[in-house]
Amino acid sequence: MLLGLLIGAAIGNVAWTLFFIISIYLIWHLRNLYRLDQWLQGKRAGIPHAVEGAWADVYHHLYRLQQRNRRRKKRLASMVNRFRESTNALPDAAVVLDVNGNIENWNKTAAKLLKLRKQDAHRPITNLMRQPQFIQYLNSDEYTNNLQLPSPFNEDVQLSIRVVPYGKNQRLLMVRDISRLHKLEQMRQDFIANVSHELRTPLTVISGYLESMLEDDEDWVRENEGSFKAMLQQSMRMQNIVADLLLLSRLETEEKTNKKQTVDVPAMLKMTKEDGESLSHGRHTITLDSDPQLCLRANSEELVSVFSNLIYNAVKYTPQGGDINIRWYADEQGAHFEVQDTGVGIAPQHIARLTERFYRVDVGRSRATGGTGLGLAIVKHVLGRHDATLEIDSEVDKGSTFRCHFPSSLIMEREVA
Ligand code: ADP
Repeated sequence: MLLGLLIGAAIGNVAWTLFFIISIYLIWHLRNLYRLDQWLQGKRAGIPHAVEGAWADVYHHLYRLQQRNRRRKKRLASMVNRFRESTNALPDAAVVLDVNGNIENWNKTAAKLLKLRKQDAHRPITNLMRQPQFIQYLNSDEYTNNLQLPSPFNEDVQLSIRVVPYGKNQRLLMVRDISRLHKLEQMRQDFIANVSHELRTPLTVISGYLESMLEDDEDWVRENEGSFKAMLQQSMRMQNIVADLLLLSRLETEEKTNKKQTVDVPAMLKMTKEDGESLSHGRHTITLDSDPQLCLRANSEELVSVFSNLIYNAVKYTPQGGDINIRWYADEQGAHFEVQDTGVGIAPQHIARLTERFYRVDVGRSRATGGTGLGLAIVKHVLGRHDATLEIDSEVDKGSTFRCHFPSSLIMEREVA
């Protein structure tokens, strides 16, 4: 501008000279702007030559920014690749689901196990796996337990499915092929059921003969009466174990919804309490406090085994003179069955394991009272089949309380005749 002024003054036309110089200056800026635009659009590689002044700085800063972004992109790409490789190496199928349950991403095992193809991306997973149990599980928001079901593509393949929520309403679907484990489990169940079945007849024959021998008044029987009685007692104990094992394997294999009907629980409890009293032989005070209107939609045979197991246990593990209180009531949470005794109690470290098969706190005491070690395992199975839970409170030498919580959905009011 200064130069323009001087030249303008020398030639006597300041305005035109200034106009001319400013125009050149503007053209220079516009040209640089155009080059920058071309460069940013990637139409020119490298920094254009002959850039001077303020534009050189702009190019320099932009170039550095671009380099930094490139390095970052490269790092991210290699991270994503490494992540992809590691998920592909997983032996389990992993499928990323978005907020709406659409398939976002998956690993190699998922592609193999769930037959996922490129065109399945962004489609709902329920288009692929249409089993009602799966849809219910996916929509339940309660993923603490795994879901087991046959593969929709091959009936012989058993899948164990787990949903892991993460991030903002995203879910990871983990699927494992458990066909081998499932087969082993089936073999185990069949084996127990078959062995129990095979043992039942010989045991019935043995105890039948022993019973009739003991009724005979033969001398040789009287001389060995003690031994015969012990033999009869043991064979009966084995019969009880076999019966409990058969019941357990039936509970494991039968469909959950089988044979549910309205059960008159108050009447059932009255009878079971009487059975408990005859087992007690007047050694305990047994009380029953039950809501006379409160019935339950349940499997009657299974329910009676829960009540009798818990009441007989209270009798078996409560010394003479103790109290046993049985309650049956309902509240907002559902229906509750409770057996409280003033018996030997259970130390805390045993409580979590009581429902395992053959787990006994005191093997000697259990055998002496004719226990099979399977009662609470049966209770747990039956409750599971009714969506009910078992709660155990106990203190050594003070007593125990066993509570069964049944969901409100099973409650039925007594029908008025
Ligand atoms: P069992 O046939 O031995 O009674 P259960 O499965 O019914 O088998 O019970 C498992 C174990 O739990 C018992 O051996 C006993 O040690 C303990 N148990 C169950 N009920 C009671 C109770 N009411 N009081 C104290 N211990 C109990």
